[in-house]
Amino acid sequence: MSYAKGPHDLGRGAFAWLVPSGHWGQSNSGLVRGEGESLLVDTLYDLAHTREMLDGYAPLTVEHPIRTVVNTHSDGDHWFGNQLVGGDGVEIIASAAAAATMTQHAVDEMVGLHERDGHIGEFIRPISVGFDMHGIVATPPTRTFSGRLVLDVGGREVHLIEVGPAHTAGDVLVHVPEAGVVYTGDIVFNGGAPLVWTGPISRCIAALDQVLALEPDVVVPGHGPLTDDTAVRRVRAYLEHVAVEATAHFRAGLSVEEAVSAIDLTPFADMTEQERIAANVLNVYEELDPTRPRSDRLEQFSRIAAYDAGVRR
Ligand SMILES: [Zn+2]
Repeated sequence: MSYAKGPHDLGRGAFAWLVPSGHWGQSNSGLVRGEGESLLVDTLYDLAHTREMLDGYAPLTVEHPIRTVVNTHSDGDHWFGNQLVGGDGVEIIASAAAAATMTQHAVDEMVGLHERDGHIGEFIRPISVGFDMHGIVATPPTRTFSGRLVLDVGGREVHLIEVGPAHTAGDVLVHVPEAGVVYTGDIVFNGGAPLVWTGPISRCIAALDQVLALEPDVVVPGHGPLTDDTAVRRVRAYLEHVAVEATAHFRAGLSVEEAVSAIDLTPFADMTEQERIAANVLNVYEELDPTRPRSDRLEQFSRIAAYDAGVRR
């Protein structure tokens, strides 16, 4: 999908900064501008990308400085750049569940993945080309919440709606009712396959239903170009398909690996990041079998990387 990098004016004080091509790590951010202050939705994966985004927004924020940052969730590509906007009385807000893992340990762990041998390193390094993880100092939220929070951003109402656990433990939607805009974080990927890190998958589907219930004119996905309900419904269809198929294969006694191979993704062949199926099926199996130990991010990446290596072989 081809779309322009940079700021997009969504009308009535809402903006988005889009980063093509929306693949791994190439995340979007949002800006809500009120009278005399602005709210930033997410920072980017590294300092250079975040600096470029802040510079791009500068003409919009010079008289309406960023006083609030909302991180939609705890994945690094949505908050590692926080140090460039934190401090100086700027409030950084996330759900309490997300904030719990927004630590220097998370930064170091991600850096560590790049240096690993084998499938994981071979997978992570190429998808991280163009990002520099050095010098990132974890800058966690200064304010957390659970459930819902309504903010006044210079006279503009912004609603934070916690929908996690879903993609991650503490996903948040940012809704600007007056502008008809929802910033979804990685509840919505437009162009890429969705990814269920935490789940369960039913919560990801419920989160998409919450987006649809807001009846937005514009949906700013975590990755990929702007959309309306089209990409939301498409991601929902993928997750429904995977949930139904993986459950049937579980009941039939197939292993996770067998189920991953057996699921026909032809109807979703246009989606990039097909390798995410490996983590998504694993998540369904863990939900259906409570005795199965819960995998960590390393295990999930390992399966994604092994799937990717298998396809390339
Ligand atoms: Zn992301």
